[in-house]
Amino acid sequence: MVDIDKSKPVLVTGATGYVAGWIVKRLLEEGATVHAAVRDPGNAEKLRYLNEIAVGLPGTIRYFKADLLDEGSYAEAMAGCEVVFHTASPFFRDVKDAQTELVDPAVKGTRNVLETANRTESVRRVVVTSSCAAIYGDAADIATYPGQVMTEQCWNSSSSLDHNPYPYSKVLAEKEAWKIAEAQSRWKLVVINPGFVLGPAINPYGEGESFAVIRQMGGGPMKAGIPAIGIGVIDVRDLAEAHLRAGFLPEANGRNIIVAENTSLLDLAATLRPKFPRYPLPKSLLPKWLVWLVGPLADKSTTRKFISRNVGHPWKADNSKSVRELGMSYRPIAQTMQDMFQQIVDTGQIPVPKG
Ligand code: NAP
Repeated sequence: MVDIDKSKPVLVTGATGYVAGWIVKRLLEEGATVHAAVRDPGNAEKLRYLNEIAVGLPGTIRYFKADLLDEGSYAEAMAGCEVVFHTASPFFRDVKDAQTELVDPAVKGTRNVLETANRTESVRRVVVTSSCAAIYGDAADIATYPGQVMTEQCWNSSSSLDHNPYPYSKVLAEKEAWKIAEAQSRWKLVVINPGFVLGPAINPYGEGESFAVIRQMGGGPMKAGIPAIGIGVIDVRDLAEAHLRAGFLPEANGRNIIVAENTSLLDLAATLRPKFPRYPLPKSLLPKWLVWLVGPLADKSTTRKFISRNVGHPWKADNSKSVRELGMSYRPIAQTMQDMFQQIVDTGQIPVPKG
């Protein structure tokens, strides 16, 4: 589907990440030379899984040391590249200082990578991994959008340092990307806006938010019920394909919502029950008043404002641009969930149920 010029290397920032792992794999399958920018190329254990997938694939992987907050540190990795995939950005909910832990690396890091693209003559295209979090902050926002659905025209205007700081970091970073891209004409910016990413990981022991949620879902803490939270989900393998298309299809452009299904946490749990009947998966919804009461005690990043503006609100995104313009087709989310849960079970990341 994609046509890669194999004589030019391709840069992937944050190559050790969950999303980036599958992008690297797809590029290696296509025979590309991947310049993998990582914080610590000396950490053999962290690079082990990328090295393992590279064995037997036609492409080549080369590591470069770079940090989002270290200005100019992506220059060596970007040299000679026509296409840059910028995925690196901190993704976690439990923060002490949102400015330094989330916003600075996201925004200054985007500026760092894109200004390096400005100085690197070979670059023709930059694909930035943004998020649906740059489109909405709380599910309640969606009811205010035209047709009560998220499209590429909508922007998150409800997040702040104090309320939903991760989405705030993503919307600021994406706006920074567009500002830099629109001030020049040599390279084209294509933005990918994924929903919540699920599916098996290249590094099964990754500590990202995606795995944290599914481990919680199947490990017992949600046995008594789950909050009525709507969510749009994308398989990490389909997301990698979307990135490749954004990087190499001439007509790819603008923002692109990458979501396979508009669903909910309860419906996601239900996809696991037929294959994993012994696991303590949630079967029912918790009443909103109970979530409001105990949610903040169970997890301090789940504030009462978050609960009021997200629990019980419908979640809907329009993925039609990705189908029409990137030619995306999406695998069923039950498959995504079952493959991911199987990996969590096989690697002993949740207790095996007794009996
Ligand atoms: P992840 O596994 O935590 O990966 C994040 C990557 O960013 C890691 O490679 C990490 O490097 C790198 N990074 C963080 N801070 C850095 C810094 N200061 N300098 C250099 N690299 C740094 O998360 P992910 O889920 O793959 O997320 C990847 C991208 O997808 C992010 O932009 C995220 O916002 C976006 N996204 C994710 C989801 C999702 O549900 N997972 C949904 C929408 C969008 P280390 O390995 O060295 O820590």
